[in-house]
Amino acid sequence: MSDQARVYVVTGAASGIGMETKRLLESQGGRVIGVDIRDAEVVADLSQHHGRATMIEQVTKISDGKIDAILAIAGVDTGGPITVAVNYYGALATLEGLRPLLLESSAPRAVAVSSITSVHLFDPQLLNVLLDGDESLALEKAKEEKFVYATTKRALSRWIRRNAIRSEWSGAGIPLNAIAPGLVKTELLKRLFDDEGTRARISAGTPMPLGGPYEPIAAAELLAWLISEKNGHVTGQTIFIDGGADVVIRGDSTW
Ligand code: NAD
Repeated sequence: MSDQARVYVVTGAASGIGMETKRLLESQGGRVIGVDIRDAEVVADLSQHHGRATMIEQVTKISDGKIDAILAIAGVDTGGPITVAVNYYGALATLEGLRPLLLESSAPRAVAVSSITSVHLFDPQLLNVLLDGDESLALEKAKEEKFVYATTKRALSRWIRRNAIRSEWSGAGIPLNAIAPGLVKTELLKRLFDDEGTRARISAGTPMPLGGPYEPIAAAELLAWLISEKNGHVTGQTIFIDGGADVVIRGDSTW
């Protein structure tokens, strides 16, 4: 391990999993550049082209052009075009836009936050548009579709799996992974649980035999390991941290 503090970029750092991850990495001696639409070192709206450009410009300036890991955590669950813009294109802009800053690190790493909903019902047409990369068409389609959140998370996991083994990532020595949380006790979940009907529907859709909904620190610990120097060989994976929900939903036909 090197003596110098590792430098991390955490999006969604103002709340929930992102805030907890920032705290954890700082407590371990890391330097974290938080990015969020509010209350962060870099305030940028990742749903917009200009916000993404601001993020890249500001992070480059603050870090002097060198970082050790990217953690693309920011996300929204409201459905519609905004969910496509933040969860998928915002995450891709973060990973691809900041990737050049990783190239001088001795142990570069990247991770994004997908979701257990990546194995829920999804919209195949929207998924294809997302994987083809046409943002304006995807934003248009998301106005009509039902399973937008789940489809963005499925697309994100698929993008990571496709890209992790390419020259830009594996070829440059950069493990690229995702985590897929089950139900995590953050503002996002509290908002959904306020309504009794939504709470029952979500709990039934994400059965978690091992412990049920959990505190964000558990997800932060896994993210911290995936972007640590210890992770030299895990790449292209979506690691489910979901109390067993993926196993209940998909059974033993996948692993
Ligand atoms: P949260 O609402 O507490 O935090 C999300 C953060 O993203 C907030 O700080 C918010 O300001 C930021 N953000 C939203 N839109 C943004 C934008 N346009 N530009 C920049 N930042 C923006 O929610 P959370 O639960 O901590 O969610 C973190 C990630 O975990 C998300 O990607 C979410 O989809 C995922 N996730 C959460 C759960 C859960 O149960 N909480 C489960 C699975 C996946």
